[in-house]
Amino acid sequence: MRCRGRACPTLVGTARNAGTASRPPTAGRYQRIVVASFPIAPMSWHENTHRRWNPLIREWVLVSPERTQRPWQGQIEPTSRVVPQAYDPDCYLCPGNARAGGVRNPNYTSTFVFDNDFPALRPDAPGASLNEGGLLIAEAERGICRVVCFSPDHSLTISQMALSDLTAVVATWASQYEELCGLPFISSVMIFENRGAMMGASNPHPIARSGQPNDCRMRY
Ligand SMILES: [Zn+2]
Repeated sequence: MRCRGRACPTLVGTARNAGTASRPPTAGRYQRIVVASFPIAPMSWHENTHRRWNPLIREWVLVSPERTQRPWQGQIEPTSRVVPQAYDPDCYLCPGNARAGGVRNPNYTSTFVFDNDFPALRPDAPGASLNEGGLLIAEAERGICRVVCFSPDHSLTISQMALSDLTAVVATWASQYEELCGLPFISSVMIFENRGAMMGASNPHPIARSGQPNDCRMRY
């Protein structure tokens, strides 16, 4: 039930199952019995459960910061002690190095964009559909996946970059967005950064990725 006011009454039962000897329930009627009330402390958006409006998907999202206070006996990842260098001769994305597919990167000095060598979506995907009794339904999906190197410096993260270099990154995102939106089989463009080994990033070089599902609604 929804509680209103400064105190939160707790409904513990009805007259049919919570009556007392001194005050029997009214025959044929349900009675609301308040047994406790809790003063409401001032709201802390960092500590109390609440919901937040996500304007991008126009839906409420439940936020439960109290869950982070529970005892943790699960897996704990060690802190990385590796100090990255500005150039890594074994990195597939550093300037002048060969990528996994054999193509050699140019000696780029700012941002660098290329088609992902191992894309999740391909522009030449064959058209096909599958329907096995209404249980297994699938359709082929076309798209393009690209990689945007933010900087030739292997050691940087985007938060460490100079403002002028960041401006170049945003300009690259914008031009990529416009270019990909102009393709007839592209209906949406998603630019994202998957940062950190724990998050599943396959390479520590500062990069973003873009994916363009033709007809899928994606959330992240
Ligand atoms: Zn690198």
